[in-house]
Amino acid sequence: MGRSRRLLKSLASEERALSRSRKIDRDAPDAPRADLDPADWDAFAEDAHRGLDLMIDYLRGVRQRKVWQPAPEAVRARFRAALPQKGKPLAGLIDEFEQFMLPYANGNLHPLFMGWVHGAGTPVGMVADMLAAGLNANCGGRDHIAIEVEKEIALWLAEAFGFSPESSGVFVTGTSMANLVAAVVARTKTLGEPVRRGGLRAAERQLVAYASQEAHGSIERALEIAGIGSAFLRRIRVDAARRMDAQALGAAIAKDRAEGLLPFFVVGSAGTVNTGAIDALDALADLSADEGLWFHVDGAFGALCVLSPELKPLVKGIERADSIALDFHKWLHVPYDAGFFLCRHPQVHRETFMSTAAYLARAPRGLAAADIWPCDLGPDLSRGFRALKTWFTFQAYGAERLGAVIARTCRVARHLEGLIAASTVFELCSRARLNIVCFGVKGDSSGELNREIVMDLHESGLAAPSTTRLDGRPVIRAAIVNHRTAEADMEVFVAAAEASAARLRAGRRAP
Ligand SMILES: *Cc1c(COP(=O)(O)O)cnc(C)c1O
Repeated sequence: MGRSRRLLKSLASEERALSRSRKIDRDAPDAPRADLDPADWDAFAEDAHRGLDLMIDYLRGVRQRKVWQPAPEAVRARFRAALPQKGKPLAGLIDEFEQFMLPYANGNLHPLFMGWVHGAGTPVGMVADMLAAGLNANCGGRDHIAIEVEKEIALWLAEAFGFSPESSGVFVTGTSMANLVAAVVARTKTLGEPVRRGGLRAAERQLVAYASQEAHGSIERALEIAGIGSAFLRRIRVDAARRMDAQALGAAIAKDRAEGLLPFFVVGSAGTVNTGAIDALDALADLSADEGLWFHVDGAFGALCVLSPELKPLVKGIERADSIALDFHKWLHVPYDAGFFLCRHPQVHRETFMSTAAYLARAPRGLAAADIWPCDLGPDLSRGFRALKTWFTFQAYGAERLGAVIARTCRVARHLEGLIAASTVFELCSRARLNIVCFGVKGDSSGELNREIVMDLHESGLAAPSTTRLDGRPVIRAAIVNHRTAEADMEVFVAAAEASAARLRAGRRAP
């Protein structure tokens, strides 16, 4: 802390002591307030600033810590206490957070975290989320500025994807929810608005959806939740690059039609979770248009390739989608959670979710004015101000820099690919089209050793890749999503993985 900050702090605390002594005459100092605001705002400010400083230091020192470590049993036991009946001072709670939560976090901020597809957050996003929490806007609807900010994000995405500015969009928790919203909107488009009341049993034919074998599991769940049934998701085979085989898709649609079923929904993947494969979106758009089917793109992370001039050609055809699901919390590092659903057809989007409940009626003037509210575009009513942290991220960094950071992760992945190709221990199991590298120990046909290495690396705290199955075999999967991950980190990672393989082969675990 600088000298002037220290001086200011000591002045502030003197002043507080004075004001406390003055207050004694007016009200009993120990009487709790009837409301939930602090009895002493200055003391609160000091604690709050300490909380902020704590997190700034945490972000600054992220590289020096272990990627992950499990919480000891004694720490876990602390979180099985009884419901607190009496309040405690905020300062002590911040201490508890520092001591018992911070060290046992997910690890996704660390540059050597490469598991699943996790965003790493940003200092700017952290501050924005605090501002949003302070404002505590309910973004279900009504006429206030947060709704305008959310609409602006939809406009920006429409611009980025080459959609019309009339397109509608809504924040949701994540792409799982956005895929569900897509399935429900496509259902309404296909069966008409009365399906909302009559349900699917009133439909003459069974709806059928299509996605590749590599598509994300949330699509299956979306069809289950929407009542369509995951048995009616056709998993279309993929080619050598793990992209949906468009011919096989055409054949599956024809077969279903011949059997009296009703094809309605084609899901293209822009960046599969296993290997980052991108379906031939143009071909899928053509086929969907010819067949009159809703063409949805699951672009959870890969859709944001449009921000990088270098990567944008890979997702060619996305501009023709009927809807796109994506996450700002993955490759854009907006703090969790921030998923988005973008829809080319605002009318059917609204018809799918709009409610006529009396307490949500629109007024010609006042706070209840405005036409479309976010609650008309998705299943949520009360919802937070996710748009703010996204708005700050775009404004603070600019789309160009964000695109460049995305492109860099792909370069780091190619560097890792080169190291694996040169390794005497490991072999590549997939080609990195984007930012995901899958590899395994040469000759480990069961994949058992691959799984052991990943657990071993986690426990060592050195690196956190994850596993997946490719053609039935467990492999090590490194998804380079983190903006902090650099080429040099890959040398450290491969050396640690090789050491782990040697250790495990000798029958030992992480030291
Ligand atoms: C992460 C991911 C999802 C699920 O998104 P959530 O934000 O975790 O709900 C869906 N599809 C793909 C391709 C993903 O990578």
